[in-house]
Amino acid sequence: MSIKKVWLDESEDECTSCGLCESIAPEVFEVPDKMVVIEGVDFSEYEDEIRDAADSCPTEVIKFEE
Ligand code: SF4
Repeated sequence: MSIKKVWLDESEDECTSCGLCESIAPEVFEVPDKMVVIEGVDFSEYEDEIRDAADSCPTEVIKFEE
């Protein structure tokens, strides 16, 4: 399965703007204030990094769909 969608879900907790996701996958995530997913990215090229960022996010607000 490949990752088709990546988003910020603050329904239970908030992005703290820590920047960790951007340091793991700068091709996918930017943190100008709160995290944003960069538009037009082919997520299938960065699956390991996206999983790693989602696992590492301290507030678990990075969600993805396969
Ligand atoms: S790792 Fe999580 S809390 Fe930190 S900037 Fe990224 S989305 Fe926000």
